[in-house]
Amino acid sequence: MSEIIKVVRNLRDLRKATSKWRQRGQTIALVPTMGALHAGHLALVKLARKKADKVVVSIFVNPTQFGPDEDLSRYPRDEAGDLIKLADADANLVWAPAVEEMYPEGFSVGVRAGSAAKDLDGAFRPNHFDGVATVCTKLFNQVTPDIAIFGEKDYQQLTVLRQVVRDLNTPVKLIGGPTKRDTDGLALSSRNAYLSEAERRIAPALYAVISSLAEDVANGADVPTGISNAKRKLIAAGFARIDYIEVRDAETLAVPPAADGWALRVLAAVWLGKTRLIDNVAV
Ligand code: AMP
Repeated sequence: MSEIIKVVRNLRDLRKATSKWRQRGQTIALVPTMGALHAGHLALVKLARKKADKVVVSIFVNPTQFGPDEDLSRYPRDEAGDLIKLADADANLVWAPAVEEMYPEGFSVGVRAGSAAKDLDGAFRPNHFDGVATVCTKLFNQVTPDIAIFGEKDYQQLTVLRQVVRDLNTPVKLIGGPTKRDTDGLALSSRNAYLSEAERRIAPALYAVISSLAEDVANGADVPTGISNAKRKLIAAGFARIDYIEVRDAETLAVPPAADGWALRVLAAVWLGKTRLIDNVAV
């Protein structure tokens, strides 16, 4: 039987719990999520357990990071299931504010994401990273964690947030957790639930293609040629639309100069029917 995990939904109760830990000198890790939890989220909770005395998991589907034509209304939600998983994973507290708690009447201030948000997903999802930067800054101020853990699955998000905490001097240490994948290579994602059986069979080709591009680049292949080949392979595999597939500086996401010894990352976003998948790998 799972233990019951404590859920708080207003700032007063959250502060009560965290200040008690603070008084005892205990450290706090925050794992921000939008719920519909899977093994990728739970791996981050496990990492958080190792890094701090107490683990807070936030569950908040943040409306300000969705575009008007995106999937906010149909985004998967399963709070009851999430709470069982988090109790089993030994998280200490769930912070699950309602939208009105996070954005009360009159809310008007925001954080503008920096240079890492300019293109890649930023080009296809205008304002997305401003929404992420704003909500994560609010979560950091609400929970006051020592560390916050984010998945490398959303590599650009992690990069954008590293810039936010650096440039705003936010007193939190960000830690990236590796991408958890299904046995066939598909990166776990709450949005995988949207895939039909036929789409699910095509989906692992994304990881296969970006991995093989990363290997080719590591072996000295010409980057533009490698990207063209990768696009051809993705289309042949059945991806209807490619938003981007790029090789970038792993730290800044800037277009890298053609030089050896640069840490690089392959990042891609593609569509299967109405579902947008993103993934990335190190070169
Ligand atoms: P989300 O609920 O999709 O906003 O994700 C919450 C956190 O979990 C983010 O830091 C994601 O990068 C991370 N995450 C999502 N999927 C995975 C995965 N397959 N492996 C590792 N972390 C993940």
